[in-house]
Amino acid sequence: MRMDTVIMGGGLSGLTCGIALAKRGQRVTIVAGGQSTLMFNGGSMELLGNIDGQDVTNPLQAITTLPQNHPYSKIGANRIAEIADEAKQLLADAGINMAGDATANHWRITPMGIAKPAWLTLSENLRIDDLNQLPAKRVALMCIRGYFDQPNGMLAQGLRDLGFDVQAIEFTTDDITSLRRSPSEMRATSLAKHLVSNNALQRVADQINSLAGDADMVLLPSVLGQTDDNDIVTLQRLCNKPLRLVATLPPAVAGMRMQTLLRHYFKMLGGNYLTGDSAIGGNFEGDKLLNVTTAKLADMPLRANNFVLATGSFVSRGLAANYERVYEPVFDLDVDADADREKWTRFGVLEPQAYSRYGVATDDNLCCLKQGKTIGNLYAIGSILSGHDAIKMGDGTGVSMLTALAVARNILCGK
Ligand SMILES: Cc1cc2nc3c(=O)[nH]c(=O)nc-3n(C[C@H](O)[C@H](O)[C@H](O)COP(=O)(O)OP(=O)(O)OC[C@H]3O[C@@H](n4cnc5c(N)ncnc54)[C@H](O)[C@@H]3O)c2cc1C
Repeated sequence: MRMDTVIMGGGLSGLTCGIALAKRGQRVTIVAGGQSTLMFNGGSMELLGNIDGQDVTNPLQAITTLPQNHPYSKIGANRIAEIADEAKQLLADAGINMAGDATANHWRITPMGIAKPAWLTLSENLRIDDLNQLPAKRVALMCIRGYFDQPNGMLAQGLRDLGFDVQAIEFTTDDITSLRRSPSEMRATSLAKHLVSNNALQRVADQINSLAGDADMVLLPSVLGQTDDNDIVTLQRLCNKPLRLVATLPPAVAGMRMQTLLRHYFKMLGGNYLTGDSAIGGNFEGDKLLNVTTAKLADMPLRANNFVLATGSFVSRGLAANYERVYEPVFDLDVDADADREKWTRFGVLEPQAYSRYGVATDDNLCCLKQGKTIGNLYAIGSILSGHDAIKMGDGTGVSMLTALAVARNILCGK
């Protein structure tokens, strides 16, 4: 069957675009190759957090100062505000409730206890609007005995440095202790599978209520709510004090929930999600892509009017490199990258790395280029795009959602 749009990549950008198109009645297939980087996401999204080493307070204002090759500049600063509201609404429609505003960054807390500017944060997570007015003075940091993926010492110190009075309290329950028989079970995902029954949640609440002392707020690692937020709401109700979750090291339950809920919403809207298949090439005629071949459907290329490349950056293999060059492996599209491989990386983990800005080249409508020519019906979205830097600029999830929605609009209005 010929589709209206085929999207390659089922992470945040691919799903956002797919949802926006399916909502408007398009027949959409997503070819979803594997895990997305949402599994690293502890529950916050960033629109624009940092420019030239300075924290950004108002992302919408700061976007107007970005260079012309940044994806936001291509969309146009005046359209970003509208699309940012649409993104927040889309997440809410999918069952992902986030707080935040594109005109005022708040602070999220990383698993290492560092405060970073954020656009949206899950409602149940610790969020600080103003570092001079903390949401609580005394906090009880509940540390699950035997759970490895939360560096409690660093988190507690980071919170203290921000001005919280922190009491780190180790606890367990009989159920959690039984998981410790196998050390590999003490991951956030295993705990989340376990903390689903009312009895298990009640036992955690009993521990929190008896140990939290005079704290104004209780903090718990984000180890519950893998498919929806019902267990979190239940636990918050069972606790005597306000309870907020804090991000853990990956695998991150919050990010997995976002992926699950977005995929579910896309399918509910009639979208077709091909799990575990990968785009491996396509046939072009002039300035058009005719079809896409996938690993599992090699004899049946997927035909569509429009195609969207959302295969991510190096970590998801949307981009690749060999000794000679950086390249895009599915269609060999034009890539913005230094030809001299000496320039790709700099020594030092904290140094800005040139490769993190590399990506496919596009025109202002985010249509891809191949051998210098625009492919009018092949768009690129998300972290495969060049000109942004999720690590240094804190613009990763914003670029993913906003370019996805901008391209959906371009497709719907035939641009
Ligand atoms: C380690 C890490 C931590 C991060 N932490 C944060 C954070 O805390 N906050 C924040 O705001 N942002 C964060 N980001 C950035 C953010 O996660 C990404 O910018 C955003 O989620 C990228 O979404 P995407 O859909 O563009 O790409 P991806 O999430 O990479 O998804 C691309 C998908 O395409 C699939 N794929 C690849 N090739 C093919 C193919 N040929 N055919 C079909 N499918 C294919 C991949 O398997 C993958 O599932 C982080 C990124 C990383 C790498």
